[in-house]
Amino acid sequence: MFNYDLHSHSTVSDGTLTPSDLVRRARDKGVDVLALTDHDEVAGYGAAVVESRRVGIQLLAGVEISVTWGRQTVHIVGLDVDPDSAGLVKGLSHLRDYRKWRGEEIGRRLENAGFVDAYSGALEYQQGDLLTRTHYGRFLVGVGAVETMQDAFKKYLLRGRPGYVSGKWASMEEALQWIHDAGGVAVVAHPARYGMTRTKLRSMLGEFIECGGEGLEVVSSSHNGNEIQTMGQHAVQLGLAASRGSDFHDPGNRWVELGRLPSLPKKCEPIWERWELGRHPRVPQTANR
Ligand code: AMP
Ligand code: MN
Ligand code: MN
Ligand code: MN
Repeated sequence: MFNYDLHSHSTVSDGTLTPSDLVRRARDKGVDVLALTDHDEVAGYGAAVVESRRVGIQLLAGVEISVTWGRQTVHIVGLDVDPDSAGLVKGLSHLRDYRKWRGEEIGRRLENAGFVDAYSGALEYQQGDLLTRTHYGRFLVGVGAVETMQDAFKKYLLRGRPGYVSGKWASMEEALQWIHDAGGVAVVAHPARYGMTRTKLRSMLGEFIECGGEGLEVVSSSHNGNEIQTMGQHAVQLGLAASRGSDFHDPGNRWVELGRLPSLPKKCEPIWERWELGRHPRVPQTANR
């Protein structure tokens, strides 16, 4: 049985390891198949795939797309995408344009709340080209405004808090279109984290399935044992394949590690069977893409 970890971040978005360091750590932690799924960007794949061949693990190109569904933000992971797909590249670049404005707006709001130079302060933590709330969280911890990232989000970055900017991300339909244009499969990330009622979650998953979505991230570091069981049942009932991903960002977070996750619940159909059974057309992994 392979150890699959199909959700992870590098310095290209809000992770703290470079794509190649991430791949090396995955290998060291016993991961056999890793998906690099940075927020709204695929630029880490080139370096990561070179390193994955060097150290001998399998790498899938992936992405975690920010989606606005109703008044909420949900994250849709695309797996085994062609990172050069024109539709995907263009869609993600629009999202990053919005993200740039939104990153500045978060800065202005935190500055109004008394944090002088919040924007430039957050930029100090940015390692790639993309600014996220995680960088603001690290800034707020760095200046001693809060002790933990959790507190930074709770006090400053979540809905209703001074630094919150309501998202205008992709629609569900657009995100799935981009993923499918790129030959990938779509997975709803960490479904238990949205705090949706069962009815609301079903409605969101219904729209996801209508748009051709394939999978549900049943096993995630965000999920406790009960949530894994519940999400496994949703997947089975709705005919969605199940995925497993750590959502690793930072070796400094000792609660989340690459490849260190429970197995899928028994009745679930693993999403990777789509590749093993050849049902999903694999993108040929040529060198230096
Ligand atoms: P953004 O896409 O800019 O809104 O940033 C979202 C990212 O913030 C997520 O991918 C997580 O990495 C991080 N995040 C969200 N909520 C929390 C939280 N409560 N504690 C720590 N990190 C969080
Ligand atoms: Mn993140
Ligand atoms: Mn996410
Ligand atoms: Mn993530």
